[in-house]
Amino acid sequence: MFNDHSQSLSCSKGGKNVDFYVGRFAPSPTGPLHFGSLITAVASYCDARAHSGLWHVRIEDTDIPRIYPGSEEHILQSIDAFQFEPDSEIIFQKDRLNIYEDVIQQLHQNDLVYACQCTRKILGSNHIYVGTCRDLALPFKDQAIRLKVADQNICFEDRLQGQHRSNLHNELGDFVLKRRDGIINYQLAVVVDDYLQDVTHVVRGADLLDNTERQIWLARLLHYPELKYMHLPLAMNDQGQKLSKQNMAQALDLSHPSELLQQALSALNQPIVELDTPSNMLKQAIAQWDIQHIPKTTELSGIYL
Ligand code: GLU
Repeated sequence: MFNDHSQSLSCSKGGKNVDFYVGRFAPSPTGPLHFGSLITAVASYCDARAHSGLWHVRIEDTDIPRIYPGSEEHILQSIDAFQFEPDSEIIFQKDRLNIYEDVIQQLHQNDLVYACQCTRKILGSNHIYVGTCRDLALPFKDQAIRLKVADQNICFEDRLQGQHRSNLHNELGDFVLKRRDGIINYQLAVVVDDYLQDVTHVVRGADLLDNTERQIWLARLLHYPELKYMHLPLAMNDQGQKLSKQNMAQALDLSHPSELLQQALSALNQPIVELDTPSNMLKQAIAQWDIQHIPKTTELSGIYL
C-alpha cells in the first residue's frame, strides 16, 4: 500500500534546493501571544526576508473549544505593533474546513484513512494506537478519522537541531486527522495549508519537533513537496516550563514593542540591534540575520520570563 520511502538511514534535508523561499507564522489562538511566540514570529520573518522570501500569517483556529477569547485580536494587534509586513491576507483555518474535508475524502479514496470508534476509555493510557479499528470499515459519520502509518523510519535534517527521526508505527500508531466531535486536527490542517500557501520553509518552536515526522508522512501520502524545517529553542519560565497559556505566560505588552523586539533578537543570539521603530529594527535584524548564532538546543538557558 505504501511506497517504500526506504528504511535506510539516509535522512531527508527537505525540499529541493530551490532558490525561492516562502515562510509563515502560524499561531494558534489558544492564548494571547507571549514572548515565545514573538521569538517564532521574529525568526520566521527575518529568515524569510534574509532569503528574499515571502512571509504569510495564518491563524490556526480549528480547535474551537480551545480558542481563548480575545487572542485572535491580540495576534492581529501584535502583527501591527511589531510592524511585520505579511505578503498576503491573513487566513483563518476555521474558514477552510471544507478544504480539509476534501483532503480526507481524497485519502479515503486511496484507502489511507479509516473511521475509529475507540473511546478514550478503550484507548486508556496506551500512547501507541494498535489499529483496533483499521480493518473494520466503519462508516465515517461521527467517528474519529485516523491516518494509516507504515513501519518505516522517517528522518529529516532540521536546519538547527540536526537529524531527527521516528518510526510512527512503533512510536505512535495510526493517528487522528479528525476528531469524533468533528474538529480537524492540527496535523492535517497545517500540512494542507503549508502546501496550498506554497510554503517551502517552516520555522517554529522546538515543542513541535516531534510532530514533524507525522506531517512529513502525511505530506508524502498526498504527494506534496518536502519542506525545510528549523525548530527554535524555547523560552522557559523560571520554573523551567515552556511559556504557554497553561502556565500563565504573560501576554506581550504591545506598548513597548521595540524593547520586546530587542529582547527576542537577543534570545536568538543575533547581533545587537539599537532601539528604533520596530520596522527599522527588523530591517537591521534582517541585514544581520545569521542562524549560525541561534543556540542549537531545544530550550534557551538563562532566559526566563
Ligand atoms: N499553530 C501551532 C502553534 O501555535 C504552530 C504550527 C506550526 O508552526 O506548524 O503551536
